[in-house]
Amino acid sequence: MLIEKVEPGESLVRITVRTAAGVAVLCPGCGQSSRWDHSRYVRQVADEAIGGRPVRISVSVRRLYCENAVCPRKTFVEQADGLTERYQRRTPALRRIVEAVAAALAGCAGARLLATLHHTLSSASVLNRLMRIPLPSRPTPEVVGIDEFALRKGHRYATIITNADTGERIEVLPDRPKQTVTTWVREHPGIRVLCRDGSGGFAQAVREADPTIVQVSDRRHLWHGLLTSARQGDLSRSL
Ligand SMILES: [Zn+2]
Repeated sequence: MLIEKVEPGESLVRITVRTAAGVAVLCPGCGQSSRWDHSRYVRQVADEAIGGRPVRISVSVRRLYCENAVCPRKTFVEQADGLTERYQRRTPALRRIVEAVAAALAGCAGARLLATLHHTLSSASVLNRLMRIPLPSRPTPEVVGIDEFALRKGHRYATIITNADTGERIEVLPDRPKQTVTTWVREHPGIRVLCRDGSGGFAQAVREADPTIVQVSDRRHLWHGLLTSARQGDLSRSL
């Protein structure tokens, strides 16, 4: 990377760089390296602020021919290591800051903090960034809990699935039809025990997905049923 110019303006620092010529780059289509230049163009990326001023970097990157005759990508654009990422207008360092703020504060509050850090984004852009953060892949736990909760009481419900050992939330399904639960259980093999409420809906959904899963009543629902019966003076039957 060759730094051609640094212009520290009063409200903005502009940096102009270009990638070195003649360096071999791997084609993203086939993985074969190429150093056959096609052309250059300039990308604009925002970087972390310096001394209270936002930073804009103009990066001259190469478009290269792929030297593999059977590769579907005839040409491809190189990425400047540490400065550019595909489809990103921010450096990886600034992207990580935006993502960390978005994950902690989401839309409006995130946009306000980023403005203080000299990065102007709308609340919608912060939310958009948040939604694009790839979720970590987690192994399906052996013991899971399943329950419904109200998005709008009496009208709209969703289903939550947790790791019953740790209490960690692992999935929220947008509704509670039996088929949705059956499909989720089928797509997550390895569940040994499932804790649920006393209703038959989840029981049947899970039985259809995998009849070998042991279904148990969870502690919360057991106590809830017990106390309800006790209040109704029907404790002996409940026990
Ligand atoms: Zn290729």
